Amino acid sequence: MTLLKILLKALLYTSLTMANSLLANNDSCQPSSVKVQVLGSGGPELTIDRASSSYLVWLNDKAIVMIDTGGGSSMRFAQSKARWTDLQALLFTHFHADHSSDLPALIKASWFGGRQRDLSIFGPFAQDFMPSTTGFLQSLFGEKKGAYQYLSDFYDNDDEVADYRLIPHDIENITGTQLIFQNDKMTISAQQVKHGSIPAFAYVINICGLTVVFSGDTNGDGFENLTLAKTDFFIAHNAIPESAGRIAKLLHMTPTQIGEIAKHLNTRKLILSHRMNRTLGKEELTKKLIQKTYKGDIFIANDLDIFELESD
Ligand SMILES: [Zn+2]
Repeated sequence: MTLLKILLKALLYTSLTMANSLLANNDSCQPSSVKVQVLGSGGPELTIDRASSSYLVWLNDKAIVMIDTGGGSSMRFAQSKARWTDLQALLFTHFHADHSSDLPALIKASWFGGRQRDLSIFGPFAQDFMPSTTGFLQSLFGEKKGAYQYLSDFYDNDDEVADYRLIPHDIENITGTQLIFQNDKMTISAQQVKHGSIPAFAYVINICGLTVVFSGDTNGDGFENLTLAKTDFFIAHNAIPESAGRIAKLLHMTPTQIGEIAKHLNTRKLILSHRMNRTLGKEELTKKLIQKTYKGDIFIANDLDIFELESD
């Protein structure tokens, strides 16, 4: 073999090995492959540095699950460098505007994004003054009456101009934990929780050995039906202080309740989000109240923060 041939062979071997390790890296499924990103750490108030509720779960370099699409989340999605083509599921905790209002912007933007496969959208059932997930999509993108019927190619228009469809899944009105999505790397379960009288769900994502729980907006009722061996990340909505009034407490968890639920879920890292003017500036007191029962790590979320197991 000539020296040149040996060199070429060595070069080929090196590039193949590099390609293989890159492939393995992109495809690996272990707790360190997973990241949770906060797109919107705010609530419904307009603030200069917080989008409304929204999160991503990343596996390696792909954002594969999005939870809620509150106002401002479409710009944060772009800033996170996530790609709409990578999403495997979009979950809505409920349909208050601060959790859902950027959906049309994201769908319109996806026209330019090259997604080729349908996107499953999971969310609550209907009740008197809230639509089901199907009804929500219908009201936005339905061919006949949708507010954005010009985007109905993504939903129920048979012209098939768009490259993919939104597929709604209405989660049932039952108190037990429901498995709603499953593939070889991930399962997603929904747990009905109480948020006043609005149908609302918390989500449990088991992915590559990690368990991530998103509380959504809730007063905490419902978590007693959820039993988990461990929760690596619990993203809890800290929308009210301990001193909140009766009505606010029907909708949201107090810090003391967050601590109790974090303990019940065997949480390792608690992330406080959905931050509002009434809780901003009270973080130290909030932590103290939570630490009455919960002894693990507590993080206070800001937009675009990324949480992973190595981040401690
Ligand atoms: Zn909210």
